[in-house]
Formats: sequence, structure tokens, C-alpha cells
Amino acid sequence: MIKYADLIEEHIEELAALDAMDAGKLFSQGKAVDIPTVANLIRYYAGAADKIHGETLKMSRELQGYTLREPIGVAGHIIPWNFPSSMFFMMSAPALAAGCTMIVKPAEQTPLSALFYADLANKAGVPAGVLNVITGFGPTAGAAIASHMDVDKVCFTGSTEVGRKIMQAAATSNLKQVSLELGGKSPLIIFDDADVDKAADLALLAVLYNKGEICVAGSRVFVQAGIYDEFVKKLKEKAKDWVVGDPFDPRSRLGPQVDKQQFDKILSYIEHGKREGATLLTGGKPLGKTGYFIEPTVFTDVKEDMMIATDEIFGPVMSLMKFETIEEAIKKANNTKYGLAAGIVTQNLDVANTVSRSIRAGTIWINCYFAFDQGCSYGGYKMSGFGRHLGVEALYKYLQVKSVVTPIYNSPW
Ligand code: NAD
Repeated sequence: MIKYADLIEEHIEELAALDAMDAGKLFSQGKAVDIPTVANLIRYYAGAADKIHGETLKMSRELQGYTLREPIGVAGHIIPWNFPSSMFFMMSAPALAAGCTMIVKPAEQTPLSALFYADLANKAGVPAGVLNVITGFGPTAGAAIASHMDVDKVCFTGSTEVGRKIMQAAATSNLKQVSLELGGKSPLIIFDDADVDKAADLALLAVLYNKGEICVAGSRVFVQAGIYDEFVKKLKEKAKDWVVGDPFDPRSRLGPQVDKQQFDKILSYIEHGKREGATLLTGGKPLGKTGYFIEPTVFTDVKEDMMIATDEIFGPVMSLMKFETIEEAIKKANNTKYGLAAGIVTQNLDVANTVSRSIRAGTIWINCYFAFDQGCSYGGYKMSGFGRHLGVEALYKYLQVKSVVTPIYNSPW
């Protein structure tokens, strides 16, 4: 695995270029963040591979009992298009460390880096048949994995709608284990005591990073009344700094949306927002005549039941809402079927602690956003799914516990 990570590092530029061409991701970000992080993730799990152990049990009778943690078997990995490299290894690195074999199906929009990773696995000496990549469409190739009788576990990251189908396919085939990482509509809550300038930067980052095509995007922003007007002013100014353009141009901070379908979906949500009575503070239009570029878009005067506040748009669109009290913020933040992440901006420790315990989401970021770390797991509450990526939790997803029991001192059992 360490050799595999080294080989990936030798090809950072090619891999970042493949993801930029396939998904419209920024080349500079792929080079500086996505691909180096993937190499480190493989090293992190390589370090875990020889630290997998069971326990010696305290039994109630004259029995010796211990547990083994064994690989679950064949894992099926179904991957989305928004982070082709990161998602590939958030699943495959812990699976390799656990001793599983795997079949990886990249999204049909972004298969190129996955094929490159398969080739590098061969070169690194991963035995044939351990890490297999098949390209193809969801309803055929993806569904075949989910319903296969010889696949022991399916790990899916994608939409809630397809997540349901995966569970159904698992239930009607061999009852394979299922992990689902699904959509989100994460809240970012900014309290009166925040530094307004920094908070505006954070809010834009939370919704515009990776052109909003990120499951944990902080797309619902709640701002306390005392700083609301100043915050709106800053947001409008700062949104101009988010330059949209060619993902290979180092000046670009947002590339194009992944494909026409996604582009059309985002624009139709923007139209909905306007029709439902939200105010367009900035953006709201496509940019240029070719390519799927969309302006960074911020709506104010958003009501909780508008579609732009309830649905995952998966694009550069922020819904801004005002609140007065901490109780109101918690209630509004939890008013969603999703529960992937949340952000809190405050200097008040009591507020930060109270809100982090009250929000039903798998990750809470206080005075930061997207603060991912290989050692810190993330995943969903509610309809954002179950099972965790990253950290030791992700390794346990690929292991099952076997109990071994034997009588001692020839005792009756
Ligand atoms: P999607 O659900 O359409 O596709 C994801 C993957 O599932 C693709 O590989 C696709 O080919 C496959 N697929 C589609 N239909 C299938 C079927 N019937 N059976 C088996 N496989 C099938 O989602 P998407 O459009 O690729 O990605 C966007 C969604 O993914 C968003 O909702 C986003 O929130 C979610 N997402 C979640 C996370 C997370 O970690 N929670 C990360 C990235 C993306």
C-alpha cells in the first residue's frame, strides 16, 4: 500500500488533470489537495493494516473466549462523480487494509482516474483480482454489484434516491451489508459575536468549494439578526472574488458543473427560488456561451419551506436566512431530512457546545468548515445515510467479528 501511495504521488499532475477534464474540478486543487491527500490516506490505512486485532473475553464460566476481526470478503464500491479520487480511496484504502477484495465502479461521468488507479495498483504489486475496476452505468453495472450474490458488502456514495435502490437490491439478493453516504443540506450558523468579515469568507467557501458539488456543502446559512445586514453587504462584495473559469487556469476558483444534466438542474432551482419569492443578492445566471459555468449565487429572504432551502441543489447556490435566538437557530438547522454536517461560528464556548450537541448531523465544524482529516470519520445522520468514511470507523466497516470459544481445565461447558 505504501508503494501504491508513492506511485500515486509520482503521477499527481496526470491524475489531477484527469479529474479536471472529467469533472471540471480545479487542476490546482487536485494537485495540491485531492491527490496528495489520497496518497496520505493510503499510508494512514497501511499503518492500520497490522493493528487489527480482537479481544480476549472475560467469560462467566470456565471457558476461554476471544474474538478475531476478519475481512468481510468481497466489497462493492459505487462511487459518485464529484470527488472521483477521494471517494475511490475513502472506500478502497480501508478495504485493502482490512484484507478485502473489491470491485470499484466509478461514476459514468468520471471513470478516467479510476482506470489509472487500477493500473498503478498493478504496478505497486497489489495481487491480481484484489482491486478491480469496472466502468459502466448505474442501472446496469452499479445494480449488478448491489444485487450480486457473491458480493458481501456494498459501499455506496451518491444520491438518496439511488441509496434506497441499493438497500432494496441488498435485501432481495444475499442480504449483503450496506453502507450509504448520501445527500445533505447542511446548515452553517453564524452568531452575533462572529467576526463578520471572516464569517462571510467561510460562508462562501462552504457553498462554493468544488462549485457546490460537495455533499457536505453548507448551503443553508443562518445569520443572527444583529449582524445580518452587515453580513449581507460583505457577502455581496466578496462573492466577486470567486472567479469562475477554466479549471486549468490558476485564477479560477470555480470550474464548470460536471455535465449538462447537473447544469440544468441547478439553473432550474435558481428559477424556482426566484418564483418562490426569494431575493437574488448576487449571481443566478450561466456564464459564457459554452461550458456549464454558473455564477456564484446567493439568495436572501429565503423561507424554510422553499425548495431552495429544502432540496440538495449540489451547485453554487446559497440560501441565506435570519434568526434571533439560539433555540430558533437549532430548530431551523434541524428542520431537514438530511444530517451530514453543520458549521457553527461563534466565540462563545457555551453556545458552541450547546449547538453542537443539539444538531443531528454526523460532523460539526466550529469556526471552520471542510476541516477533514484522515483520522476523523464523517458520515450521515437521518437520510444522509449510515456508515462512516475515514478514521478507524471506516476500517471497521470492512471487518466482521468472529468469536472463538473453548473449555479450559476440561470444565463442563
Ligand atoms: P447518483 O446516486 O446518481 O450516482 C452515484 C453512483 O451510483 C454512480 O456511480 C452511478 O453510476 C451509480 N448508480 C446510479 N444508479 C444506480 C443504480 N440503480 N444501482 C446502482 N448504482 C447506481 O449520484 P451522483 O449524481 O453521482 O452524485 C450526487 C449525489 O451524491 C448527491 O446527492 C451527493 O450529496 C451525493 N454524495 C454524497 C457524498 C457523501 O459522502 N455523503 C459524497 C459525494 C456525493
